[in-house]
Amino acid sequence: MTDHVGTAAPGCPAANHIGMAALCFAFTNHVGTAALGCRGAGRRLPDLPRRVEAAAQKTPIGAALGKGTISQTAERLPFGAVSGKGTTSQAAERFPFGVVSARARLRRLRKNTTFREIGKGTTSVVPITLFPSSSRAGVSQRGNLLSRVFSQAVRSRLLFLLPLLLSVQVAWSSALGPSKPNSPQSAAPSFNSTRAMQYVREVVAFGPRAIGSANHKKVENYIHSLLKGDLVEDDAFTATTPEGKFPVRNIIAKFPGTRDGIIVIAGHYDTNYPLRKTGYVGANDGGSSTALLLELANQLRGKKRDGYSVWLLWTDGEEAVKEWTATDSLYGTRHLAEKWQNDGTLRKIKAFLLTDMIGDADLNIDRETNSTAWLEDLALQAATSLGYQSHFFARTISEEDDHIPFAHLGVPSADLIDFDYGYGNVFWHTPQDTIDKLSPKSMEIVGSVILETVRLLDERK
Ligand SMILES: [Zn+2]
Repeated sequence: MTDHVGTAAPGCPAANHIGMAALCFAFTNHVGTAALGCRGAGRRLPDLPRRVEAAAQKTPIGAALGKGTISQTAERLPFGAVSGKGTTSQAAERFPFGVVSARARLRRLRKNTTFREIGKGTTSVVPITLFPSSSRAGVSQRGNLLSRVFSQAVRSRLLFLLPLLLSVQVAWSSALGPSKPNSPQSAAPSFNSTRAMQYVREVVAFGPRAIGSANHKKVENYIHSLLKGDLVEDDAFTATTPEGKFPVRNIIAKFPGTRDGIIVIAGHYDTNYPLRKTGYVGANDGGSSTALLLELANQLRGKKRDGYSVWLLWTDGEEAVKEWTATDSLYGTRHLAEKWQNDGTLRKIKAFLLTDMIGDADLNIDRETNSTAWLEDLALQAATSLGYQSHFFARTISEEDDHIPFAHLGVPSADLIDFDYGYGNVFWHTPQDTIDKLSPKSMEIVGSVILETVRLLDERK
C-alpha cells in the first residue's frame, strides 16, 4: 500500500490530470444535453437543488464534477478510496483510478474556465437525471447515461477512457443499492430557506446596525418581535470600548429539552462599527446569522424536544469598534461567557455552535483551528448524511470569533464560518456585502446541518 501511485499509474490510462480533464469534458457534453432535455420536456423537479447536491456528492465521478474542492470529495468517495482524513496528496495517492493528482495540479485545473463551469454549472442539473427517487428508473437512466457517456467518449476519440468508465459503472452500481433510511430524500430538512432569506432582507432593510445606533435598537426590537411567546432572556450591559461606552445586548431564546444539558447555537447581529457611515449593511456578516437563527426558532418552536435544551443566541458587539484586538472585539460573548461561568450555566453547555457569514452563495465552510475537533467532525458527519459535505472544511483557517470566549473556558465549540466571501474574501467588511451575494440554498445547507448536528448531539451518550 505504500506505492499506490507507482502501481496505479501504469495500469490506469487516465492516471494523470489531463486524463481527468478529458473525462470531465466528455461527461459535461453529455450533461449539457441532459439538462436541455429536461428543460425542453418541461418537467417539474421538486427539491431539485437538494437532491442534486445529494446525488452529486454520492457520485463517484462527483470527484470531478463536485462543487467545492475536489480533494475533499475524493477523500469521501463511496467506494472506500480513502477512509481517513489525509492530506490532498494522500487522498490523491489512494484514489482508485489515480485521477486526482497533487493539489497544485488541481488548482491549475480549477483555474481553467471550462473546468470551473463543470464544477458549478453541471452539478446543478445532472444528477437529477442520474438518481431519480425511483430506483428502477434509476437503473435504466443510469444505463442510458453510461451508454451516452461511452458514445461521447468514442466520438471524442477518448477511447483510452473506456476501461475507466467500465470500472466506474461497476463501482457505481454497487455504491447505489437501495435507498437508506437516512438518505437525503427521507431525511428532508424542513428548514425554510425562503423565509430565512426574507429575514435577511428585513434585517438589512434597517441599514447599518452598529452598536449604539438607532438601527441597532430597531433590530433588537425586530428579533424580539419574532420571538413573541418564546422563553427569551436578554443579557444587556454597557461595554467600554476605545470609542466610548455602548449598550450591548445579547438575546437568548430558550427551547427546553428533556435531557440535562444545553446546546447553544449562536450568531451575531451587529454590523461593523468603523463602516457605519458607508452604507454597509452586512447582509452576510451579521445578517445571515441573524436570519438563520430566526428560522431555527421557527423549527424549534412548539415541538417537544426529546434531547438537550437548545438555546439560540443572537450575540452583540462581535465587531471591533476600532481595530480587532482581544479587548476590542467579542464584547457580547466575552460578557456572556463570564456570566455563565459565574452562574453555573457554562458547565451545562454540551456544545456551542457558532454561525458566521453562512449566506454566501458560493458556500465553503472552513474548518477552524480554535474550534473543537470532535464537534466539527460531528457537523461534518451531519453534512455528509445530508449530502452537503462538499461545502464543508475544504480549507482550514484560524478565526477569532464569538466562540473564543466559550472555547477558552472549555466549552466544546465550533465556528461554522465561510471566510471566503467573493474572490479572495473581497466582499467582507465592504459596502458590497449585500443580499445579492447570498443564496437561500446556503442558508438551507447550514440550517439543516445544524439541526442534524443537534440531533446527533442528542443521540450521543
Ligand atoms: Zn464582521
